Amino acid sequence: MEHNHTNLGVYHPLDSVEEVEEFYQAIRRERLTHKLSPNRPYCYWTIETYDKSNGIRGGGGLGVLAADMRRVAEQLQVPFVLVTPFYPWESHQKMQNMEQIDYHEARDYKDYGFNFVDTVTIKTADSTVALDVVEKQLGSSRFLCITEPNFGELYSGESGSDHRLYQEVSLGFGGYQALKLVGLRPAVIQLNEVATFFAAVARLDELVSSGMDFYEAVVYTRKHTLYTNHTLVQAAEATFHYNQFIKYVFPNIKSVAVKRWLSDKFTDGTIRLSTPTVEIAELRSGVSKLHARVANYHDINGTKIKFKSVTNGVHMRTWVLPEIMQFYRDHGVLDRFDLPTTRNFEESVDAITAAQIRELKSIGRKRLNSILEHRTDQYGNQIHIPEDAFLFDFKRRFVDYKRPTLPFNDPERLAKILQDHNAHYILAGRVHMGDSNMFGKLMNTLHLIDQHPALKERVHYLPDYDEELGLGLSLGANSSINTPIVGLEACGTSWMKDVANMGLLISTHDGGVADRAADNYLTIEGKNEAQETENLYKQMEFAANVWNNDSDLEYWIHKELKAYLDVCSGSRMMRDYLNYLF
Ligand SMILES: *Cc1c(COP(=O)(O)O)cnc(C)c1O
Repeated sequence: MEHNHTNLGVYHPLDSVEEVEEFYQAIRRERLTHKLSPNRPYCYWTIETYDKSNGIRGGGGLGVLAADMRRVAEQLQVPFVLVTPFYPWESHQKMQNMEQIDYHEARDYKDYGFNFVDTVTIKTADSTVALDVVEKQLGSSRFLCITEPNFGELYSGESGSDHRLYQEVSLGFGGYQALKLVGLRPAVIQLNEVATFFAAVARLDELVSSGMDFYEAVVYTRKHTLYTNHTLVQAAEATFHYNQFIKYVFPNIKSVAVKRWLSDKFTDGTIRLSTPTVEIAELRSGVSKLHARVANYHDINGTKIKFKSVTNGVHMRTWVLPEIMQFYRDHGVLDRFDLPTTRNFEESVDAITAAQIRELKSIGRKRLNSILEHRTDQYGNQIHIPEDAFLFDFKRRFVDYKRPTLPFNDPERLAKILQDHNAHYILAGRVHMGDSNMFGKLMNTLHLIDQHPALKERVHYLPDYDEELGLGLSLGANSSINTPIVGLEACGTSWMKDVANMGLLISTHDGGVADRAADNYLTIEGKNEAQETENLYKQMEFAANVWNNDSDLEYWIHKELKAYLDVCSGSRMMRDYLNYLF
């Protein structure tokens, strides 16, 4: 088993009611305890969660965000329920002859401390499916999961397929029944992307079936539902056919009025779930300032949707080296809620010395190397990054817009930079199943590295990218590389882990990075990919030089922390959501 190698998920929540009240006061929400309670919690619906220590592996940022929301809620004692599937199967990757091979492992919720509650049923046109409801309480938060043996794995089947719709229907209608089963009423429902839309339908249907007037029920549901969008382009969203709804959706709706309302959202026999979602959710958010501004969504009348920006954050105590967290606390950088201190944040950051940064990063490097002891590279070999070597990393899903192969556009140039600065480069990421374009690009890059002795010595590809590698690289790398095509990254959170761990960020100005001005980190600019590549190489050289000069190192780390620590803080994200919701 590959879990439990690190202390992911080990942290200490606020431990008294007074502290919780203080948190609400700190975010100017004194009366929140009246609105949120253990029986009326904040309910967060997500098709993806990424929390291996609790047995649920996700695919990427969307799942990490969900897991971090729950961790922050637990830490701050916010009554919180995460409604999500427990997938009986989980996908992994390994390398064979430099090709990514996918394989699957079974997961049993009983191995992760979940308790079986009862079963609920959902209906299809010709059958009834029983879903197991399982739960796990963690402080003020809990996992409420639905599962059954044929549920498959995350994102199995094509988007728009019957199986996806079945999963989404199960999560929405089944999850809502599960909530009732354990005696909870949602204070608010947050829909993490449209795959969770049916939770709102289940609520609407319950209100109408129990006698509320349809329009009143719509108004009520709208007021208490938040739709969080992570996608930029509505046209890219999967469509479902009316026939699929007849088979999987309508049998689960009791009210004729709700069925009619939903039927009206089809055009030419197809539907994108965002269309009814924006109608059932009055509250809508995007995941960074830039994303909220540019997300191009329209309602059924063609009116452009406005999104409030609530930039993603990360649970600091999960993703930041404990020694760095302690340092931030001891030196007046973060308060005990993991929010930047209100009085002397900037002065406290400016007082951090190069020696302190180097000392903390060297602890991080050791932590990374201990994680690397049980991981292997593309050749199946274990790697170790020397203490005195400079380390660049690129770690994220291998999707085209993130451009994982950009640094390999000029292999000679890359090799020279790595050699000149005694640097190594770790590349970690997974190709999404079925993405043959990226599958090929990864293979070509690995062959290129194989045929180039200097690159072969200094570039390491680590397959089966997961939280453990994400954490390890944030702790142990000196400089991280983030190259999304500008305009295509909704937020990204890997870079937050890097910045909070005192790494030098090299990035295009996109996603959450663009919440602050471009002069706060090492920006990659350029009118085309050739210029961007050239600037990337310049910034890589610059970063390695910065690391060797005390005052430059202080200048850049101070700048990054002052600009972004607030953005990175998951507690800041929770504060923003609570302020928007209540
Ligand atoms: C942090 C993290 C992510 C987030 O990735 P982005 O590309 O920055 O959104 C994805 N996967 C894992 C395993 C992570 O740890």
